[in-house]
Amino acid sequence: MDFAEPEHVVALRETIRRFLAREMPPAEAQRWDREDKFPRPVFDKLAALGVTGSTVPEEYGGTGRDILATMVAIEELGRRSFPLAVAFINCACYGGMNILECGSEKQKRELLPKLAAGKMWFAYGLTEPDVGADLASVRTTAARKGDTVVINGAKRFCTGSDIAEYIYLLVKSDPTAPRYQNLSFVLVPPKARGVTLTRMDTMGLRGFPSFDVTFDDVEIPAENIVGGEAGWNKGWPMLAGPTLGVEKLEVAAIGVGIADAAVDDAWAYSEQRQQFGKPVSSYQAIRHMLADAKTKVHAARLMLYHAAWLADRNENCDVETSMTKLFVTETAKSVVLDCQTVMGAYGYAHGFDMERYVRDVLLLPIIGGSSSIQRNNIANRLGLPR
Ligand SMILES: Cc1cc2nc3c(=O)[nH]c(=O)nc-3n(C[C@H](O)[C@H](O)[C@H](O)COP(=O)(O)OP(=O)(O)OC[C@H]3O[C@@H](n4cnc5c(N)ncnc54)[C@H](O)[C@@H]3O)c2cc1C
Repeated sequence: MDFAEPEHVVALRETIRRFLAREMPPAEAQRWDREDKFPRPVFDKLAALGVTGSTVPEEYGGTGRDILATMVAIEELGRRSFPLAVAFINCACYGGMNILECGSEKQKRELLPKLAAGKMWFAYGLTEPDVGADLASVRTTAARKGDTVVINGAKRFCTGSDIAEYIYLLVKSDPTAPRYQNLSFVLVPPKARGVTLTRMDTMGLRGFPSFDVTFDDVEIPAENIVGGEAGWNKGWPMLAGPTLGVEKLEVAAIGVGIADAAVDDAWAYSEQRQQFGKPVSSYQAIRHMLADAKTKVHAARLMLYHAAWLADRNENCDVETSMTKLFVTETAKSVVLDCQTVMGAYGYAHGFDMERYVRDVLLLPIIGGSSSIQRNNIANRLGLPR
């Protein structure tokens, strides 16, 4: 058993930290959040470092499929900027990882080099107005018409679809086939005729908004079916396999990043803030909260890296990824709320990062399969009788 972080991962972490210190210092992260704008110029410089190729093999223009490195990149970006971390995911994971696992050879040759270079993003179109956790029930339809596919329906919370090249869209492709055999993924450009985007307002993740997206007789070439002809009606295995498996870890990696940043801030604040003639760090209530927070982040990180290690070895890790998503995101939420408590009123005030961490961390146990859904997965997969 070797817990040493590989050299290339240490180098990646340091590269991203140096990059963020230069291009996205805390005051800038606050400004982008306040202005509710996506830091596109910063992302473009980040992509130029080559980090977005970490899910793509070298033969397709990447640096090799490396889940651990990908999680460390997300963690480091998440420490400073939720929108940068999510943009990285939309590119390297929603794009790179899915096309590598599910795309046809033609799609791999065409799309992976652009995704690896950080020049193309995907948005996820899974959720619908009446469909949340029960994704097999999506109602957006795709019908074959000659060598095109016609899409009708509506998606909700389609995050980043305004700037994505393609929406990675889950559709019902066969109205008569049994459940789980009637779904496909298609690539729909948000600019296609008949696609309408309406911005939604949410509590956190400012600068990277979600959209209601409607599809009104949207016609796309059949070559946009993910996996080509062989991918038609194979959407469920694509979704249940690589797509949601590693997505759970991506959300957990953001959680480790945000929680770690919150502990650093609260720790430093407790050393400086004096009350009753002493730093508040001298009071046991504060010391224990910070010691617990450090311990929880350490445990969360170990769990994340272990699951990433399993995924890197292509081992079946459905249970471990669900446990990681559940534990890490719930832990991150409780750690950030404790750190906010340590900072008292300043944990609630604009001008400090803590209030942003709180807004952002609350999202993590909801997306990518809620905590209840992860508990269901764990109990079901471990064979607990119903
Ligand atoms: C900011 C933001 C960004 C998002 N980005 C995207 C995106 O880019 N693409 C996308 O497709 N979606 C996105 N989503 C949607 C997100 O993934 C949804 O939260 C998810 O689809 C679940 O739907 P729901 O939250 O409506 O919950 P529902 O599924 O409606 O569940 C409601 C409640 O019931 C519980 N519940 C449901 N079923 C069960 C069950 N079987 N057992 C126990 N409890 C259950 C849930 O845990 C939850 O507490 C985003 C959401 C937000 C808020």
